[in-house]
Amino acid sequence: MRLSKRATSIKPSPTLAIDAKAKALRAKGVDVINFGVGEPDFDTPDNIKEAAIRAIKDGFTKYTPVGGIDELKEAVVEKFKKDNNLTYEKNEIIISCGAKHSLYNIAEALFDLGDEVIIPAPYWVSYPDQVLLNDATPVIVKTDEKDSFKITPALLKANTSKNTKALILNSPSNPTGCAYDRRTLEEIAEIAIAHDFYVISDEIYEKLLYDRFRHVSIASLSNEIKQRTIVVNGLSKSHAMTGWRIGFAAGPKDIISAMTNIQSQSTSNPTSIAQKAAVEALTGKQDFVPWMVSEFDKRRVYMIERLNKIKGITCLKPVGAFYAFPNVSSYYDKTFNDKPINSSFDLASYLLEEAKVALVSGGAFGDDRYIRLSYATSMENIKTGLDRIENALSNLR
Ligand code: PMP
Ligand code: GLU
Repeated sequence: MRLSKRATSIKPSPTLAIDAKAKALRAKGVDVINFGVGEPDFDTPDNIKEAAIRAIKDGFTKYTPVGGIDELKEAVVEKFKKDNNLTYEKNEIIISCGAKHSLYNIAEALFDLGDEVIIPAPYWVSYPDQVLLNDATPVIVKTDEKDSFKITPALLKANTSKNTKALILNSPSNPTGCAYDRRTLEEIAEIAIAHDFYVISDEIYEKLLYDRFRHVSIASLSNEIKQRTIVVNGLSKSHAMTGWRIGFAAGPKDIISAMTNIQSQSTSNPTSIAQKAAVEALTGKQDFVPWMVSEFDKRRVYMIERLNKIKGITCLKPVGAFYAFPNVSSYYDKTFNDKPINSSFDLASYLLEEAKVALVSGGAFGDDRYIRLSYATSMENIKTGLDRIENALSNLR
């Protein structure tokens, strides 16, 4: 077989891989607690499902415009106005098959061989691989826990070159749960303008914020930064709609138009039925969202407190998303039955095999000192899973 260099330069999404592994074990009857994949454990709200059923019954089952139906673009325009104080025209919006697909379209529309793309680490798993798939070079910039894992203006400047094409920002962040404050965003925006690069701002966890943290979209800071920012968002996390595959992006119309052309040659439109459901998600009643956030908040408080009580673990309290990202590196010189544990991959495998707890190694996100646990699962699972982890770690010598 002669696969392309591109295909062999990447790995399968590790977050989806761990989820598949946990589900396969469950299917075999193994009682696995799944802290692996990041998706709300709640069902999609009924009003959204009903909108989809209506769409099917009304025969809304054919191709739609490639970049999405007008009704949904209008709802997205409204969303940006209401939530982010951002004004876009419909031709500055694209609807894609998930935020991941919007991000991929951006990478295809912007990157060429020789372009450098700055990605602060820890990063979401798909960013470097999407850059590689489009022949550009990821410039991974390690951030520090003491800066709440945010890229500092000094670090950003130090990693900027004449080849810098873009910076990928993710706030609130997967996997750290940290979020950028306005002041830092202003400094980042200044650097992007001065060095003439784009900002790809992945804001998919915008609605999942705690402790009264307020989300700021970097694009809203000035017209100058808006002109070089592509904002990505979607409904997977905010409305428990991972399987519906609806995400969207907003940005300068030439970029959106290039992304739409690319989409027209790859997937065509996102599913017609899911688009109708998305209209309802954005314009219908919103009581589900704060309810879900308050449920996540209870789990967040419990999980972070418990993790910090486990000997040798420290964990920052995240202000957003639904992940805990504890530092577990004090366990790396230990062994289990003479088998050494030297990395986050070893520890994650040990916890899956011995404790029957699935989670993702920090190495997958670019920092091997950590592991990621999703608390988008029931409190009961969280309690049992943490008991198991605590017990398994105490068995390491
Ligand atoms: N960005 C981040 C940071 C994510 O965690 C995810 C995970 N689902 C996505 C984008 C993609 O979301 P989706 O494609 O389901 O909209
Ligand atoms: N974003 C989620 C995660 O990080 C879903 C998996 C994926 O899309 O890779 O777990």
